[in-house]
Amino acid sequence: MQQIRNIFCVGRNYRLHAEELGNAVPTSPFLFSKPTHALALADGQAIALPGNQGEVHHEIELVVHIAKPYQPGMKPDDMIDRMALGIDFTLRDVQAELKKKGHPWLLAKGFPNSAVITPFRPFPGLEAVKRTDFSLLKNGERVQNGNISDVIFDLETIIRFAVDHFGLTAGDLLFTGTPAGVGPVADGDLLQMYWGDEMWGQFVVKMG
Ligand code: MG
Repeated sequence: MQQIRNIFCVGRNYRLHAEELGNAVPTSPFLFSKPTHALALADGQAIALPGNQGEVHHEIELVVHIAKPYQPGMKPDDMIDRMALGIDFTLRDVQAELKKKGHPWLLAKGFPNSAVITPFRPFPGLEAVKRTDFSLLKNGERVQNGNISDVIFDLETIIRFAVDHFGLTAGDLLFTGTPAGVGPVADGDLLQMYWGDEMWGQFVVKMG
């Protein structure tokens, strides 16, 4: 995989997903990050996930690759060169405990292979991207379906937030949030990520 610098992820960016986990719908962008060690490519091979820390949930998300640093006046189309679909894997039981304690989410979100992405495709521009739904199939059944036009905070807002608080530059990835339908994966599950009718990547879950 090419060199990726930082991985930023948006939490609770789809209303129905925030509500399905009993969370308030946020009033400002909510971002966290993952180590680059979390990256794995959905290339048909098995991918190992932790098998002894409670439920591991799938969260399919649109992922964008930043091509150049922000300069005033830039729009998302000026900064993004490629896109992928990805899964923000989450140790949901661990996350629930961390939330209770008010602790950071890193233990629940940052484990190896917690950021699985398809190969990159050219970014056709935000308006074109809004015309196609993305979805996740688990063992042939559609479990999540989303469209970037349904987000609470749009890409421009998220990018500005990341620029202002963390810096954002070439080689950074943004996971843009997951739609409703998250749920647990099990050993042997086949996960397939679709852009419209086109499968961009698949893999089999290996619970370690
Ligand atoms: Mg997520």
